[in-house]
Amino acid sequence: MKKRPSKTRIPAHALDGILDQVREVRARATTPKTPEEIRRARRVDIWKVAGFDQGPVSCPCCPSILQYRPKSGKAFCPLCYRSIHALDWFLLGGVPLGEAVERLNQGTGGRP
Ligand SMILES: [Zn+2]
Repeated sequence: MKKRPSKTRIPAHALDGILDQVREVRARATTPKTPEEIRRARRVDIWKVAGFDQGPVSCPCCPSILQYRPKSGKAFCPLCYRSIHALDWFLLGGVPLGEAVERLNQGTGGRP
């Protein structure tokens, strides 16, 4: 049997805060993604994900405005000179891979 590490008592109000933080971290933690899930997320059309239907979209890497490429479903930045797919859009916005893949595969886009 394990011995209790200490008799130190954590005040109830502090414990609430700690438990809230634990719940928050656990809610954000996602299971690892398979290559197929990642491929599926990359193929999602960036139009709605990045909000092109709501007006001009800025590049996540520079001050330029992105161009939408309907044939590929990707965006292109004329200044960075790079093509950005839906998954890039989230990753460049600082969304962790697991969460980005889930949001794309569940169809819940939105600006990161
Ligand atoms: Zn750019």
